[in-house]
Amino acid sequence: MEHRLTADWEDWRWQARNVLTSSQALSAYLDLSAAETEAISTTAGAFRMAITPYYASLMDPTDPECPIRRQAIPRDDEIRADERAMADPLGEVPRTPVQGVVHRYPDRILLLVNNVCPVYCRFCTRKRLTALDNETLPSAGLEAAYAYVAAHPEIREVILSGGDPLLLPDARLADILGRLRALPNVDLVRIHTRLPAVLPQRVTPALVQALAPHQPVWVVTHFNHPLELTDEARIACQRLVDRGIPVDNQSVLLRGVNDSAAVLGELLRTLVTWRVRPYYLHQCDLAEGVGHFRTAAEAGPALLDELRGTISGLALPTPVLDVPGGSGKVPLFGR
Ligand SMILES: *Cc1c(COP(=O)(O)O)cnc(C)c1O
Ligand code: SF4
Repeated sequence: MEHRLTADWEDWRWQARNVLTSSQALSAYLDLSAAETEAISTTAGAFRMAITPYYASLMDPTDPECPIRRQAIPRDDEIRADERAMADPLGEVPRTPVQGVVHRYPDRILLLVNNVCPVYCRFCTRKRLTALDNETLPSAGLEAAYAYVAAHPEIREVILSGGDPLLLPDARLADILGRLRALPNVDLVRIHTRLPAVLPQRVTPALVQALAPHQPVWVVTHFNHPLELTDEARIACQRLVDRGIPVDNQSVLLRGVNDSAAVLGELLRTLVTWRVRPYYLHQCDLAEGVGHFRTAAEAGPALLDELRGTISGLALPTPVLDVPGGSGKVPLFGR
C-alpha cells in the first residue's frame, strides 16, 4: 500500500501497468481466504483475473463477502456446472459482419475496439472475449469498421465498447471519434466504459480535452455499489459532465452485491447528485461462470418498485434483460 503515498497512485498508466494478477500480489492489500486463494488458481485457465491497485484499495481487507471483492476476486462458483449458461448469450457472434462490429439494432452498432479491461468483472457477459489474449483492434480492422458504417446509412450511432475503450491512448481515441463523426450518417458516438469505477484516474483533463471536440459524445459508465462512489470517481464524472459530455450509468443486479433496496437506493441517489443519470439496471445474463450472481427475473423490477416514490424519479433506471439469442434488450416489469 506504500504506493498510495506517492504520485504513482494518481497516474492511470501506473495503475494500468501494475494491475494485480496473482494471489501474492493481492495479499499486499488484503487477507485472502483459503477459498479465494484456491479459486484464483482453479479458475485461472478459464477466466482472466486483473484488479487495479485502486480497486483493490476499496476492498474490505478481512471480509471475503465484501461487495467489491465479490465483483473482482474469483470464486469457485464460476467453474461449477451451470446448464443454463451459454458462451455467447447475446448472440453477438452471428451479428458480427466485420471484425469488432456487432450490428444487432438497425440504427446502432457496437465497435469493440479491444478486449482488455484493467479489472475483469467476475460477472462479465463478454467473458468469451476477455478470456482471449490481450488484443486491440488493429488499424486495418478499424478501417473495415469505418467502411462498414459508411456503407450502412441506417447506422446513426456508434458505441465504442470492448474490453474498455478508455484504455486506448487519448490521441487514438480522438482519431477514432474524428473518423466516425466525419461519416455523414453518424450523428452520435457513445463510449461504454467501466473506468470511472475501477480506474477513475484515467479521466484526466487531457482525455476530456481530446473527446470534447467530437460532440455529441455520451459516456455510459458502470457503477454497481456505493463503495465505488469515491472522491476520485466523482471527480472523473464531474470532469466529463462539466465539459458537456453527459454521463449515464448502467448497473448489473448482482446477488450478494447490490440486490437490496438500501444498497441500490444509495447508489442511485448518489449518482444523480453527481449528475450521472441511472440508465439501465441489467438482469445478470446467461454468460458462463456467472450463475452465482443471477437473481430472479422479477428481482430488479421489484426493487425499483420498492424505491419508487422514495427517491427521485431521475434516479430510477429501466430494468432490462438482454434476451438470449440476440434479439436485444427488453424492459422487465414487476407484477
Ligand atoms: C446494448 C446494445 C446496444 C445499445 O442499446 P441501447 O438500448 O441503445 O443502450 C447496441 N448494440 C448492441 C449489440 C447492444 O448489445
Ligand atoms: S469492464 Fe465490462 S467488459 Fe470489462 S470485464 Fe467488466 S463487465 Fe466485462
